[in-house]
Amino acid sequence: MRKQIAAANWKMNLTFQQGEKLLDDILDAEVKMADHQLTIFAVPYPYLLMTRSEVETDEQNYYVAAQNCYHKKSGAYTGEVSAEMLHSINIKYCVIGHSERREYFNETNATLAEKTDLCLANFITPIFCCGEPLSIREAGKQNEYVANQLKESLFHLPAEKAATLIIAYEPIWAIGTGKTATTEQAQEMHRYLRSVLAEKYGDITASEIPILYGGSVKAGNAAELFACPDVDGGLVGGASLVAGDFIAIMKALK
Ligand code: PEP
Repeated sequence: MRKQIAAANWKMNLTFQQGEKLLDDILDAEVKMADHQLTIFAVPYPYLLMTRSEVETDEQNYYVAAQNCYHKKSGAYTGEVSAEMLHSINIKYCVIGHSERREYFNETNATLAEKTDLCLANFITPIFCCGEPLSIREAGKQNEYVANQLKESLFHLPAEKAATLIIAYEPIWAIGTGKTATTEQAQEMHRYLRSVLAEKYGDITASEIPILYGGSVKAGNAAELFACPDVDGGLVGGASLVAGDFIAIMKALK
């Protein structure tokens, strides 16, 4: 069965102590994940080890993700963090190509292909983000825009590697805006992306790849969004910073 995933993206929020407290509050709720369900916490680099030791236990399907890694293997790139470094501290997931990184740090589909390769070479599952800006949605060109992001960053991968990816569809106009895609818009795009994956990799591989929705997922709308047949959970920013809200989102996984 395809994985269903609640992924928290803390972005550049919370002090170390606030992060510990948030994790404690979430863990205290003891939300049990079924075998096919995962919760992933994408936290700032300095919190990775603390978060891993708090959440990665044998009983729960809880994991830690980095929010980014650099697109070069190693070398004179002061301030950057490599996929190999993440692997050396046993990090198993990494968010790749969040729209904020594409916009503020000029990340391109080509550099994201390099990051994806480096993650996979280091046994890290990329949570690959894609999604269109408002102008593209208004022009009705969202399908080709998002399909192109997948093609340019992922389609050099062989099927067995592609099958290990997690994709997050995050329409930029819905991120941090309080404006969520409707369930129809989300399902339509997710079904389309799965068809693009199926065309390239075949139905079986496409059916194995979780496609998360991101963009103002809240406690109050998560269940409705996750109920869509091609929506396999969410990548959650703002609501992941509030224990009660994120707990409700974890419980909304199907
Ligand atoms: C995100 O950070 O990926 C995100 C979707 O943010 P928010 O849930 O706040 O819209």
